[in-house]
Amino acid sequence: MTSALAVDGLRVLYNRSIIGLSDVSLSVEQGQLVALLGSNGAGKTTLLRALSLTLGYCRGHIAAGSMEVFGRTLSGRNPHAAVLAGIAHVPEGRRVFTRLTVEENLRAGGFAAKTARDRQRAKDRVFALFPQLAEKRNIRAGLMSGGEQQMIAIGRALMSNPDLLMLDEPSLGLSPQTIERVADAIRTVNSEGTTVLLVEQNAGMALRIAEYAYVLDMGRIVLSGESSELATSPEVIERYLGGV
Ligand code: ATP
Repeated sequence: MTSALAVDGLRVLYNRSIIGLSDVSLSVEQGQLVALLGSNGAGKTTLLRALSLTLGYCRGHIAAGSMEVFGRTLSGRNPHAAVLAGIAHVPEGRRVFTRLTVEENLRAGGFAAKTARDRQRAKDRVFALFPQLAEKRNIRAGLMSGGEQQMIAIGRALMSNPDLLMLDEPSLGLSPQTIERVADAIRTVNSEGTTVLLVEQNAGMALRIAEYAYVLDMGRIVLSGESSELATSPEVIERYLGGV
């Protein structure tokens, strides 16, 4: 299998001194759906920011280590380079453009598509994945439910036809039923060939759909393994699955 993502010895600092990540190494194979679990402040968002080259906006920087995406070194401070490398980042809290319509939000994500045809194909894919977005394409995103806004955020990321989709806590604040819909959509995107890195505090959902998972704690990877193994690990059950 070709490696989609290879992170080696990554160390991230905020404001030149606060440790965001220390010595993080992980890999994701092409076509895999991998979860990254951890509680508040573990460093999950920091890893996604490093990979989407957006750390600079939060006064963060990479102090050591390397990142390879589909065999190519990823570096620099321009998020555009990450998009061109095939990465799309669905940020925590969705960050949709509330005053823009669904369709305008999607268009904003399609700037990196090479041709109008690619853009159209990406939009067709998003509307097939989330038919309710097609129905509400002319509605302003700010008027839509949290679940629908999450769908817009995922759809917007898919508009660049990414090879690697990274999602930051897509289940946050959603009802159990909506979480299932979002989980199904993530599974579908993955089954269509897109590699997925899923950051979640909802370990139950993440371990159900991911094949492999890493657990971060205080900026370090503390556990990793097949999801089925982690789901039965006493430590994971106690700390991340609410002891059930
Ligand atoms: P959460 O689920 O709360 O988002 P997380 O696992 O995503 O948690 P991060 O947000 O990556 O964790 O935070 C990792 C560490 O980096 C924490 O100690 C946090 O306080 C620190 N940190 C994150 N962003 C900044 C920032 N902009 N400036 C300073 N420190 C930061």
